[in-house]
Amino acid sequence: NYRNARFLSSATTKNTLPPEQGLEVAFAGRSNSGKSSTLNCLCEQKALARVSKTPGRTQLINFFILPDGNSLVDLPGYGYAKVPEKIKVEWQKFIESYMMERSTLAGLVIIMDIRRPLRDHDHVMLEWAESRQLPVHVILNKSDKLKRGEMTKQLRDTKEALKDYDLPATVQTFSSLKKLGVNELSRQLDTWFAS
Ligand code: GDP
Repeated sequence: NYRNARFLSSATTKNTLPPEQGLEVAFAGRSNSGKSSTLNCLCEQKALARVSKTPGRTQLINFFILPDGNSLVDLPGYGYAKVPEKIKVEWQKFIESYMMERSTLAGLVIIMDIRRPLRDHDHVMLEWAESRQLPVHVILNKSDKLKRGEMTKQLRDTKEALKDYDLPATVQTFSSLKKLGVNELSRQLDTWFAS
């Protein structure tokens, strides 16, 4: 199913969002966390999420449609140091309205670098999810960068930290480079899409 994802459209404003059809799972993360690589890995396509990537400037929400009519949604990466404040505020407002109001949104995947999980804006995403009780799945990506013991510790600490939030949250380690964790991610998405 995910292998057959294809680009549907990009949105820059509320008015350009596609109609609410089927269910959606959104992908968020700091820039450079490996969000595009994770989406490409899940969908077994080399350039699915890269085609429309425009770092730091145009802030787009990209929609990828699946054969069953559900969608994967690539939210703009956050944490670019160079983005002007005005753009950051606009991005924040647009994403917040999407996160709060999108009725088809069934789950949120947050991609983090396993070496630096749960940073600044990751918490904003979690708070938005919490406010509407949207289930969250955290991907600790780049697990190939750590030794097994360190990896286990980061996984455990992140699970513990997520208990501060009153929402259903799951966490897994992942490596888009080594293609590790793809089945676990697919299963989580299957569960949300089946709900
Ligand atoms: P995005 O900005 O979040 O979309 O991140 P990208 O997918 O463009 O990846 C950012 C950088 O991290 C690139 O240089 C990737 O090659 C690298 N990267 C992504 N995933 C992994 C991973 O699992 N392991 C390692 N070692 N590098 C990764």
